[in-house]
Amino acid sequence: EGGGAMAASGPERPGPGALALLGPAPGAPSCPHGPALLFVKTSQGKEKGRRFYACSACRDRKDCNFFQWEDEKVSETRLAAREEYNSNRQPPFTHRQNVDRYKNFVLLPLSKRRFCQECQQLLLPAEWDKHSDHQFLCGITTAQLKSPSQLLYPLENKKTNAQYLFADRSCQFLVNLLTDLGFRRVLSVGTPRLHEMIQSKASQEEEFSVRSLLLDIDFRYSQFYTEDEFCHYNMFNHHFFGGEAARETCRKFLCEENGERVVMVTDPPFGGLVEALASSFKKLMAMWKETEKEGDDSKEMPMFWIFPYFFESRILDFFPSFSMMDYQVDYDNHALYKHGKTGRKQSPVRIFTNLTPSMIVLPEEEGYRFCTVCQRYVSSGNQHCEMCNSCTSKDGRLWKHCVLCKKCVKPSWFHCNNCNCCTLQKHSCEKTDVGCFVCGKAGHKRSACPSLSRT
Ligand code: SAH
Ligand code: ZN
Ligand code: ZN
Ligand code: ZN
Ligand code: ZN
Repeated sequence: EGGGAMAASGPERPGPGALALLGPAPGAPSCPHGPALLFVKTSQGKEKGRRFYACSACRDRKDCNFFQWEDEKVSETRLAAREEYNSNRQPPFTHRQNVDRYKNFVLLPLSKRRFCQECQQLLLPAEWDKHSDHQFLCGITTAQLKSPSQLLYPLENKKTNAQYLFADRSCQFLVNLLTDLGFRRVLSVGTPRLHEMIQSKASQEEEFSVRSLLLDIDFRYSQFYTEDEFCHYNMFNHHFFGGEAARETCRKFLCEENGERVVMVTDPPFGGLVEALASSFKKLMAMWKETEKEGDDSKEMPMFWIFPYFFESRILDFFPSFSMMDYQVDYDNHALYKHGKTGRKQSPVRIFTNLTPSMIVLPEEEGYRFCTVCQRYVSSGNQHCEMCNSCTSKDGRLWKHCVLCKKCVKPSWFHCNNCNCCTLQKHSCEKTDVGCFVCGKAGHKRSACPSLSRT
């Protein structure tokens, strides 16, 4: 494979150690996933490490092993080979071709509608031969075509593309919330199931007039949606694979009705590249702002960022106007994230938004209540702490106030006089002053982050 050869001919990669993202850099080289991101390896004691480019989308080298030192000289031959490799790695059909294929597919009688499970592709009769020894589904109905997230298997790759699909209840909750808030357009970034529910409601219910545009790196979806409904997009580097036309589709979508009544909803994979995501989301917000001629400058595009609660401080670093809602987002295919109360673990995934918290009404039948002091809905177990003057629980359990730390802490924590802070009973009283790459807190490294051990 070309990429393998290229990597092998390059200099040694950095060994294990803390990696810091320096972000998207102008003039960055590209891999099949668009412009690479610039990283630096920081080793303890040393201030500066050597900078290098790596794939923005794939955190597992098996999926994309693009690597280049920032100061590395790349020969013309290698550049040409790389370009060829990148174009060979693009999907077999273009989005346009897939749209045409879909049109032909729906004309077929049910008996001739096949979906190849191995290639994850709708088949036209002329292609049956090529897939004769593959498993396939027959009699694909219109209903199935309208819920591709059920037809396609969820990509399971842990590091790169883990697809955790919303449980029906959470998806329904989101759709109702968005419509109750009066939104008419939803930019669905990495939320194919939300997109699908909006689309099918719009086609079934007369009075439901919300539209959605899906932005996702999973190109399989281009088989089911037109260019006005889906853009092949990488949210770690704000790359539109469909080029200027796709970017323009997105921009127009955001700026319709003078930019009003549009909301962005995103549910990214949580691998630690919060700053890359934030940088892309800011670019999407800027896209919206560009054509928002009237109105005051401080206005932000409304956004829902769905992410685990232990990333709260990281998200607030980039978006100070955001707040975290107590609502626990549930997933279909994630054993750990089923709704609580039955002895199973509760979901750590929350909604972060720049809308006024009091506007986000959480379902009372699921135990949420309104705290009049905090002016927001909170979990049933989340008690208002008089000393903190806020509902302090992050995980839905009852937290306890520590007078020494002057804040509320997890019920399982205790105050360690050695460390001078509250922590787990079982810990070693030593400190490292570099913050963890995942949660930003001091005292442990990324690999030992207590937040990640839960997922
Ligand atoms: N809960 C959502 C799915 C979230 S899973 C739902 O049910 O609709 C994460 C989604 O992000 C997947 O659809 C995945 O394909 C997409 N994704 C992963 N990496 C991405 C990237 N680099 N750019 C854009 N989308 C990405
Ligand atoms: Zn890549
Ligand atoms: Zn409160
Ligand atoms: Zn408190
Ligand atoms: Zn304490």
